[in-house]
Amino acid sequence: MGTRPALSLWILSNNKRESSSDKDVILNILSVLTDLLSLGTGRRIQYVISKGGSEALLQALTTTAQTEPLDHSILLPLLRLLARVGQRDRKFGLKVQKAEATDTILSLARRSLGHHLHLTHCLWVLQVCASNVTTGTTLGINGAMELLFKVITPYSKRHIRTVRAAIEALAALLKSRSNSRRAVSRGYLGGLLRLYQDWHRNDVSNNYVYIRRGLLLCLKHITNIQLGRETFLFSKGMEILFTSVQDCLSCKNLDPIINTVIQILRKCYPKEPLPVATVRSSYSFPLPGNAKAEPPCEGSEGDYESDGEEEAEKDLDSEEEESKEEDYDLETDVNKLRSKAVLDRPEEELGQYKAMCPELSHNFQELETESEEKKSLEDRTESLLSAPSHSIPNATSVKHPNYRLRNQSVTEMGPDPGEKDFKVPRQSWTNKEIHRWDQTDEKRDIAETAQDAHSCEDPARNHVLMLRPLPKDPAWYKKTFYPECEALINSSAGGSLDCSDIVTNLLEKHQGDIPFHSPHFYITRAKRVKSIPDYKDLAFPDFWGHQPPPYSKPMLERKYGVQRDKVLDDVRRLIQPDDVIGRTVFDLDESSHSSPGAPGCLTFFSKFESGNLRKAIQVREFEYDLIMNADVNSNQQHQWFYFEVRGMKLAVPYRFNIINCEKFNSQFNYGMQLVMYSVKEALQGRPRWLRAGHDICYYKNHYRCSATAGRGVKGNFYYTLTFSIKFPHKDDVCYLAYHYPYTYSTMMSHLDILERSRNPKKVYWRQQTLCQTLGGNLCPLLTITAMPESKKRDDLEQFCNRPYVFLVARVHPGESNASWVMKGTLEFLVSNDPIADLLRKCFIFKIVPMLNPDGVINGNHRCSLSGDDLNRQWLTPNSQLHPTIYHAKGLLYYLRSIGRAPLVFCDYHGHSQRKNVFLYGCSIKETLWQAGCMVDTAVITEDVGYRTLPKILDKVAPAFVMNSCSFLVEKSRESTARVVVWKEMGVLRSYTMESTYCGCSHGLYKGLQLGTQELEEMGSKFCLGLLILHLKSLPCSKKVMSQAALLLDLEEEITDRTQRSCSNSSQEIDDEPPCVEEVDYNADSCSDGEEDFSELDQEIQEYLSWVEGKTEDDEVTMAQTCSSKALRRLYVSNQPGTNNTSLPLHSTALGVYSGFESSPV
Ligand SMILES: [Zn+2]
Repeated sequence: MGTRPALSLWILSNNKRESSSDKDVILNILSVLTDLLSLGTGRRIQYVISKGGSEALLQALTTTAQTEPLDHSILLPLLRLLARVGQRDRKFGLKVQKAEATDTILSLARRSLGHHLHLTHCLWVLQVCASNVTTGTTLGINGAMELLFKVITPYSKRHIRTVRAAIEALAALLKSRSNSRRAVSRGYLGGLLRLYQDWHRNDVSNNYVYIRRGLLLCLKHITNIQLGRETFLFSKGMEILFTSVQDCLSCKNLDPIINTVIQILRKCYPKEPLPVATVRSSYSFPLPGNAKAEPPCEGSEGDYESDGEEEAEKDLDSEEEESKEEDYDLETDVNKLRSKAVLDRPEEELGQYKAMCPELSHNFQELETESEEKKSLEDRTESLLSAPSHSIPNATSVKHPNYRLRNQSVTEMGPDPGEKDFKVPRQSWTNKEIHRWDQTDEKRDIAETAQDAHSCEDPARNHVLMLRPLPKDPAWYKKTFYPECEALINSSAGGSLDCSDIVTNLLEKHQGDIPFHSPHFYITRAKRVKSIPDYKDLAFPDFWGHQPPPYSKPMLERKYGVQRDKVLDDVRRLIQPDDVIGRTVFDLDESSHSSPGAPGCLTFFSKFESGNLRKAIQVREFEYDLIMNADVNSNQQHQWFYFEVRGMKLAVPYRFNIINCEKFNSQFNYGMQLVMYSVKEALQGRPRWLRAGHDICYYKNHYRCSATAGRGVKGNFYYTLTFSIKFPHKDDVCYLAYHYPYTYSTMMSHLDILERSRNPKKVYWRQQTLCQTLGGNLCPLLTITAMPESKKRDDLEQFCNRPYVFLVARVHPGESNASWVMKGTLEFLVSNDPIADLLRKCFIFKIVPMLNPDGVINGNHRCSLSGDDLNRQWLTPNSQLHPTIYHAKGLLYYLRSIGRAPLVFCDYHGHSQRKNVFLYGCSIKETLWQAGCMVDTAVITEDVGYRTLPKILDKVAPAFVMNSCSFLVEKSRESTARVVVWKEMGVLRSYTMESTYCGCSHGLYKGLQLGTQELEEMGSKFCLGLLILHLKSLPCSKKVMSQAALLLDLEEEITDRTQRSCSNSSQEIDDEPPCVEEVDYNADSCSDGEEDFSELDQEIQEYLSWVEGKTEDDEVTMAQTCSSKALRRLYVSNQPGTNNTSLPLHSTALGVYSGFESSPV
């Protein structure tokens, strides 16, 4: 394409137009440029811009504007070109200022006030200039808005195109905050509102949508400043827009109007603090030694609005910052990335952890005894465990954990698993070991004894826990359980139901349906739990158990317009408050409110293990605002909820709004549902958590956290999760939760059952206590491996030399999905599955299934009782404040010190923003590459073995997606388990496993929400992955290898060791696809979709075609799109001035076509 267009631009900008032949040249150039640019796409215009097109056109404009009289045959095509080029030139505003053209354009517009065709041209250019805020401000100072306001008011349908251009130019000008202030002070806001009402009222056939939207954009920009919002409220803007939008809702074509109205309404909704006395958690816990000062008190009320002033800009900035931060966050210091064997405590301290590896000094005397005496299974169990004197499971009960319970009277609690828990570690060791333990950690021993005394000998504690009352619906019981229950109902006074009798009865009938769960074990465990609120109630689902449904539920399809409907419903509280009740019906802080509310009102409750609901406010008859409790000793971290609700009506959709969510986005916008458990359903034989809720969406609301209270919080905003639920039965007791609950007691009773269900001949199992938590609960540590084949030296050596795998889970209490995955891992590891058998022979598993018991118990989402995120404490854990981390790390240090650092470390988590299951790992090279650092690969050598396990999992686990994995080391993650274990313990395969709360976007489960079954499967497939990893990486015995080959149909690709490429494919492929509805979280974004250049182009073309047609009456038709080809022909052949040209339109005289491949019209 060469220099010829550039040449023509040069002629254009330097022509002083001395003669009429010069004018011809100019006209020709303009015509050719017009032709060129109207044919092509943005690419051509960009070329012209790069060759100085904007400057040349502006220069020509200045020159032309100086000639008297004005030559409109040149001016009009010039202005059109400027508008088209200018809107695509990012630096156009600057260039206008440089060329000092703002005055020129304004004065041209003023001179054209009487001529609408000319004026419209000027307004197009004005609009384009104003897209630069500085230029817009200059134009505003020089009176551009007064001029425009004169054009658009009063309401008139005459010269509609000019009005449109003026409104759009005004909207562009109002992006400048100083222009907005000027507009408000001149009273334009009220004028715009009235004008909008007029247009809305008169445009019944929706022919002037663009005018209405243009006016809304003006309002939207004005209300970006606080003065604008105040004036808007004062001028009844909320009412006017809310009322007007009601007529539009049914018409899909009016989306641009509806969306803009809703953005304005959301932004202007008066900001309020959350309706709680303090955002601090209702629960506080005194920390040992006053470790942490109380956080600063909250700011005074009334500073909420001031936060909002710079909101819009701040939001945009923070988004940009975030993407910048991501790269900036990558660790690029090679020295910091290198593995370093440091120790954060005196070396002598490591000795205590020897006791946590009893497998390394076990002498397996029982094996000999067994082979000699052929003892029965029970006896071996006895000798192995030195179990307490209570009844030992018989052979049958080993197969089915619930067997024995079926034949047992319910009034007896049966064996006390808790009792054993407190003594098991010492009982299971040899005397020698106990001795050592006592020496090395006398303090701990004493502490545990105290713990025992407190837990076991406090009869009050053991009797306070009550199951929550069951549904009070005698007729229903009668119908469902006739005739057994009828007797019960009749026998109890006044027809009321005695809960415990019914439970007793039902347990007898329905016992043992749920594998690996026992209500009796559960209640025994739950009684020992130490909670801050001192729970006295037992939630039914945890007690009774959960059985996954036989099918998975697809992700919820998002209903079109759901967010707008909900937001309008919220705004209606302000505009039409007649039906607003506003009654607090549940309040953790004021128990007087927690009594059953007025008739027809739901009753809420959350004071049970893992429960989280702080406050419930009945907003309207069937609508409730709910507030979650912050993590203990914290004023934030609200995401996890779990509460009971009762007293519902049948077939009524109840709307719930959780109004203090904190995350910027949520999978609730992408098909995720919460979970619900119905007691009546459970009693009818369907005891299960099910995905529930419809009309779900998640958006920023009008509540604000005061600046001081929100210190350290990213943004001071709250978000609403809203959902509607139709309950399956009337007068039921239902439980709603963020995700499938999994309490501490669930885990402890699960371990009890696992221990009893395993085959002790094959499975070596030790349950010890890693430490006591701050809250006084015990954190269990498991050791699982295979019993040695025999007592022969070879076998014992093989036993001792098995590499370690170290697994931890649930450091974040709100991530209950992690516990379900861990449940799957544990059940698989102790199972009779031949693969599990093989796996146990390959590894010794050290497992801490719940790193944050206190957090789980007290319904936290993220933190421990110290208010700390425990997964940010691994670098320097405090033995008092973070005991579980301190000792887990200590045990890892110990393993490293004896040369037995684990082969694999994995920390199970849940991920709330993404789908699928995936791993985060650590790689120096990938991090440096991603950060754009020059890497001397010869200097940095890295074993790419960290990629093997995720690759295997990608093949064997249906929910797992390799492409979602990442191996980048971020500075902000330097104190997480994964990074610290990788760096300090030198564990190459150190991972975080993230499981979605939602569902899968790939593979077998694509489009489905994950249930507990799929999560558990992930846990067992992880084990399978470990086995394959092991078989691939070790020159293991031929016997094991051949066994494995028989068991596993290994795909060649997996076993191919040469496949260890290190391609950088860690980009995420699972970004959310766009929703049917544009999900708008913050409502403050400034974008109007103005990047779509075609709008102004089309406007220009439509106008010109109309001018040619000269049909003043049919203005309406303007909105209809003409065939673009016909338009183009009109445009090109009818330009003013082209009649004079001696050049044929398609001439190559100036060579402008030579570089473009598309043919001219
Ligand atoms: Zn987590």
